[in-house]
Amino acid sequence: MTDVRNVIIIGSGPAGYTAALYTARASLKPLVFEGAVTAGGALMNTTEVENFPGFQDGVMGPELMDNMRAQAERFGAELVPDDVVSVDLSGEIKTVTDTAGTVHRAKAVIVTTGSQHRKLGLPNEDTLSGRGVSWCATCDGFFFKDQDIAVIGGGDTAMEEATFLSRFAKSVTIVHRRDSLRASKAMQERAFADPKIKFIWDSEVAEIHGDPKLTGLTLRNLKSGDTELLSVTGLFIAIGHDPRTELFKGQLDLDGEGYLKVAAPSTRTNITGVFAAGDVVDHTYRQAITAAGTGCSAALDAERYLAALA
Ligand code: FAD
Repeated sequence: MTDVRNVIIIGSGPAGYTAALYTARASLKPLVFEGAVTAGGALMNTTEVENFPGFQDGVMGPELMDNMRAQAERFGAELVPDDVVSVDLSGEIKTVTDTAGTVHRAKAVIVTTGSQHRKLGLPNEDTLSGRGVSWCATCDGFFFKDQDIAVIGGGDTAMEEATFLSRFAKSVTIVHRRDSLRASKAMQERAFADPKIKFIWDSEVAEIHGDPKLTGLTLRNLKSGDTELLSVTGLFIAIGHDPRTELFKGQLDLDGEGYLKVAAPSTRTNITGVFAAGDVVDHTYRQAITAAGTGCSAALDAERYLAALA
């Protein structure tokens, strides 16, 4: 059992590092669990980020995260590349257990564990991430001007990504496993009315081709078993996200999709002294800048909570 800290931050993406920077500058000496394998968060898996303000010429995702990490560390954040495996948030003093079984205690906890985009589970998917394969049209759409793009999925997100991408793309092909969409009627109608969007029904991606960049997909028709080659240089996978909230089930309130609930516009959860920020809360915007923004809010909320305790 360790001494009682002011604040423990769980997660190390833009939300976690920003919360770390702010709480460190407020002399709260935060302890940050960055995650064992994926310290730095989702942007460690991408190439160029062109929409994070302050970088006129863009910045590589890992470089941006290394800078955020170093900035938090400079002001005294203690960063640990380890996972939190269990938490007890119920009392005034919260406990957080790491993989070695050490129990860490704190008066406040900030949760910034992010969300995991669902993958197709195909061999080339990770290698071509940032080289044609993407999970975020807002982030990457601009790179695909006048190109042929495939969007995978049949829900609202897939329709939204497709209609957004059709502004830039030469063509957008939506590939869906079924013969009808799950998306809301309004979103469907927008997609159907878009002359640049076409649909391939009852089909899944069997193979992703390209080296070093995406060149095409092999699609398999699930009814006939037939395969066809689709030449595309962009693939947007829009089959959903899973917020990393397993640790908090039964303690923190979750919404219907498993995201943490907060008393917006604050970052307060249902448990006093526990705050949440970034993509673990947000299924609407899912951007580095919004994650960083709410990470800042969580730090300020925690800071005010701790000041009131003193
Ligand atoms: P994350 O970045 O997901 O970080 C969460 C962190 O918490 C991870 O490091 C994880 O390991 C850690 N963690 C989880 N559970 C535990 C635990 N139990 N113990 C310890 N640590 C834990 N956004 C943009 O604005 N511009 C872009 O160009 C852009 N490109 C993207 C490209 C890709 C390929 C992807 C996947 C996303 C992209 N995004 C982009 C979206 C952006 O990355 C996310 O919105 C942002 O990273 C969310 O930040 P976060 O801090 O909430 O969570």
